[in-house]
Order: sequence, then C-alpha cells, then structure tokens
Amino acid sequence: MRFIAVYDNVDSTNTADNDFTPFRNIINEWYCRDISKKVKAGMRARANSGEHITGNVPYGYKRSEDDPKKWVVDEEAAEVVREIYKLYMGGMTFKQIAEEMSRRKIDTPAKHMMQFGLYRYGRRLNLDELPELWHLGSIIMIIDRYEYAGHTVSYRREKVSYKNKKSIQLPESEWIITRDTQEAIIDEETWQTAHRIRESGRHRKVNVYDKGPLNGLLYCDTCGNKLYFKPTPRLKSHSGCYMCGYHLHYNLCSTHYIRRDDLDTVVLTHLRKVTAFAQKHEDEFVKMVERKTRRSGEDALRKNEKELAEGQARLNEIDRIINRLYEDKVVGDLSAERFAKMLDGFETEQTKIRTHCEQLRIAIAEDKEKTDSAERFIKLVRQFTDITELTPEIAATLIEKIIVGQAEKVDGQQRQEVRIIYNFIGDVSEEITE
Ligand SMILES: [Zn+2]
Repeated sequence: MRFIAVYDNVDSTNTADNDFTPFRNIINEWYCRDISKKVKAGMRARANSGEHITGNVPYGYKRSEDDPKKWVVDEEAAEVVREIYKLYMGGMTFKQIAEEMSRRKIDTPAKHMMQFGLYRYGRRLNLDELPELWHLGSIIMIIDRYEYAGHTVSYRREKVSYKNKKSIQLPESEWIITRDTQEAIIDEETWQTAHRIRESGRHRKVNVYDKGPLNGLLYCDTCGNKLYFKPTPRLKSHSGCYMCGYHLHYNLCSTHYIRRDDLDTVVLTHLRKVTAFAQKHEDEFVKMVERKTRRSGEDALRKNEKELAEGQARLNEIDRIINRLYEDKVVGDLSAERFAKMLDGFETEQTKIRTHCEQLRIAIAEDKEKTDSAERFIKLVRQFTDITELTPEIAATLIEKIIVGQAEKVDGQQRQEVRIIYNFIGDVSEEITE
C-alpha cells in the first residue's frame, strides 16, 4: 500500500486517529492520482503548444543553436531520410532498404548522431561499438515518424499509472499532434502514402523465395548494377525472373528482364559445352586457358629467374668491392678523391641493379600466379565432368559473373545477349563456339 502522509500529523496512540487512518489513505490515493493527472495535463499543455517534450531529436533533425527547444533540418541526414522514403515507395521492404543503405556505406543514424556528440540512453556513444550495418528497425522508425512531415507528435506512449513505470503504446487517436512545428523533410502527401502502404500490410508478409543458383552473379550490361530476383508467384509456368536493380529501385535503367528458368538453361548448356570441350581437347583447352591468362610461358619465366640470380650475384660482388675500397683507402693505397669517384660509380650500379631485380621479382610472381589460376581452372573443370544440374556451388566455383543485355526484337525474333565470364579465364565464347 502506498501511504503518503507527510503533512498529516498521525498520532498512533490516539485511537480516534487510528480509526481515521484507512480513510486518510484513500484520500492520499486520490491526491497522488490527482498530482499525476496534473503533471500529465501540464505535459499535454506543453505538447499542445508544440513544444518537444521528448529528449530525443529524431535522425534528420538537430537542435537549433539559437533555441535548443527548436529543431532544424540536418541536411545530410535529411537527404538519407528522403532516400529511404523513395525506396519504400518504390516497393522495397524494410529489410531490403536496410541492406541497400549498408551496401551504399551510408553512416547509420547512431554513427551519424555521434558526429554531433549526441548521447543516447544517457551515455555517450562509443564509435567502436556502433554497428556498421543498418538495422531494419531504424528504417521502420524512420517510416513511422510523423515528425518528418513537420509535425510534433506527443503521447505515443503513456505510463500505465502513477504507480507503475511501465508504459503502453497509445492508440493513434489519442496522440497529440501539433502541426507545422518544424520544417518538413517529407511532404505530407508522401508521408500519408507511405503510412497507407504500411497499414495495408503488404510489406509485412515475408516470403522466402528460391532465388536460383545464379542470383548474385548477374549484372546489367547497360549500367553495371546487379540484377535482382523477382518472384512471379501467380505465374506457375516459370519460377521468377531477374531485373536490373537500377530499374527496379530507381527506374533509371531498362528492365533487362530475363526469366530465371531461361537463364539457368542457357548457362547450364554453356557450362556443359565448356567442360565437354575441356575433356575432349584437353591440350587445346590448356593452351587456350594459358593464352587467356596471358601467361608469358615457361621460357620467359626461366629467363627472368636466371636474370634475377645474376643480378643478385653482381650485388654481392659490388658489396665486396666497396669493402675492399674502404680498406685500400685506410691503408693509403687510394686517394680520397679517387675513392669518392669509384664509390659513387659502384653505388649507382647497385641502385640500378636493385630496381631491375625488383621488377623481375614482380614479373615472376605474376607469371606464377597466372600459371596457378590456369591450373586451378582446369582442375575445377575436371572436377565437374558431367554437370546435369546447375547448383549454387557449381555456379560460384566456375563463374565470376554473367552480364545480361536488354532483350530486343530482331526480325521478329526475341534476342538477348548473355555473356558468361568464367573465373580465371573470362569470356570464352570466341574459343568455344559449337
Ligand atoms: Zn541497368
């Protein structure tokens, strides 16, 4: 029982007083509830006047330097907020937006706020603790905050009672909204539309689609962006498609639409062609791979290695000669002038040889690396002798990327270019044709 009777003079020896105690407690209860109500009313009055009664300034705003009660637009963050709304309106899910923000290496709100030395949860943020990746919760918060439309929203939550610290989310109808209290970052119309999308719940459904073995390896030949998987659940005939990300998210490129099953077939056919060729004409294939990796061949490698050894030997010899010159000078066989001249000559030669040796070392390392990748690719192809099904493992092992063109009608026929870039050897469409 909560018993506040600070000002009451309760005399426990007085039986009359004791009789009154329960009654007094009830009065106190009323009193506390009344104070709580009065505090709330005061807060509501402040909220009604548009004063920001919460301590936190939402990401996108900062406190005005002239009047800390006022918020002004933090242009850098505001631009990110606008971009997030744009992506959301474009049909991206919260998770996709979070991934996109991380991919673009945009500072997370926490990291951004840190620049202003802002505090959160009562302690200074430590830059090292801040996650680099955007959390989808941040995206949801940004889409939900009506403050971005320029208004102040108070009383989203309220304490259950003056006796309980727990707060509950209030229904939207009870929120106190004071309009036009700060400059809007998102116009009203856009905010309302985003809100409707959120209410309709079309983003709440989480479907996990099989994006196919080639997902992540596909690139647009026009803008260079990745192609993204789009499911087509209503069309049972095929299992989805890929489209240029720049088209999907910004409408800035053409569709580059390609059906997943069509693409899988094309790629599988070509993979089988390459592996079959490698088996049937192994020597020719090895030569082709060597040519593709532009390896300078065994002879050049041996020549470089010989030259490097010779250079190394000459450097050692010069070291010995210089030592002898010092000795001769000490003994007096060599004049100071002659010593300086000879030393200078040998040192120049040393520098020249050192530079040349360094170049040779790089060339040798590159050659060996190329030899290795050629051998590695041949080994990989041998590993997958008879590919009957395209799996993500096979695709990722053999293929670096696939560049997809825009489909065109040529003489009434649908044509679309698909270039497969293999790991280590690149494009082999000219070498392997049939
Ligand atoms: Zn594109």
